[in-house]
Amino acid sequence: MPELPEVESVRRSLLPIVGARVERVAVRTRRSLVVPGDPPGGFSRARGDVKPRPVPRGALLDGATIKRLDRHGKQLAIGSGDGRALLIHLGMTGRVEIRDSPRAQTHDHVVWALADGRRVVFNDARRFGGVWALPDTAALHARWNALGPDALTIDASDLRERLRRSARPIKAALLDQAVLAGVGNIYADESLHAARIHPARLASSIRADDAERLAGAIRRILQAAVDAGGSTLRDGTYSDASGAAGSYATRHAAYGRAGEPCTRCDVTLVSDVIAQRTSVWCPRCQRAPRCV
Ligand SMILES: [Zn+2]
Repeated sequence: MPELPEVESVRRSLLPIVGARVERVAVRTRRSLVVPGDPPGGFSRARGDVKPRPVPRGALLDGATIKRLDRHGKQLAIGSGDGRALLIHLGMTGRVEIRDSPRAQTHDHVVWALADGRRVVFNDARRFGGVWALPDTAALHARWNALGPDALTIDASDLRERLRRSARPIKAALLDQAVLAGVGNIYADESLHAARIHPARLASSIRADDAERLAGAIRRILQAAVDAGGSTLRDGTYSDASGAAGSYATRHAAYGRAGEPCTRCDVTLVSDVIAQRTSVWCPRCQRAPRCV
């Protein structure tokens, strides 16, 4: 599942479309879209047999020139000069690709044909992702203000304040996008391992020195992963808009390494389900809390 480094890599690889004009938009899967007037969450989550309405002209930036590419946490926004924006969630398997060929592929849901002949495609095999058409910058800010601060620049005192209010294990709090935006299962395990914090420890028990180590680890690991183009796992699901894979998976110290030796102390890493997600940690470097 794409997390902050993967979404940032997609954003950077989309920069070549800034300045391009969208000539027309083809909607192949209406349920992958949410436009103003749709039920909250869109038709894919609406109850019963609701017939999706047609997409209003211009809502998907048809006729507009692409001026901005922004990101907050795991969300990407493609914006025009007049404030309209497309908010994209990649979900589990979502991709945004720039293609030279007009040939459609399986799971292409929305296709933006640019005036210069290129295509920008939203493709999503498992369809947990989607595209939200936002009418103005206020709508985008409202959504992003409901999320926590972007994890790439989180500072220790802000992180500690946010964790202190949580009665959950720290792993669950880090995965909560309203607490901190951008961290998912991979980078939560990597950051907790680097900061020597057990994933089941209560978030509210984090002291100032723990928060300092954890915030530093989150920033350092996310930045290194961005520099490496993100983590493409063995399933090969993730790649950026140009089709390039990321190489950070070769540097994972905890995620996906249960049963292998800790890179720091050589003790065998263990795993269990915490916060409904498989979590991997070192039983020596990340000591268990006294009560869980
Ligand atoms: Zn260790």
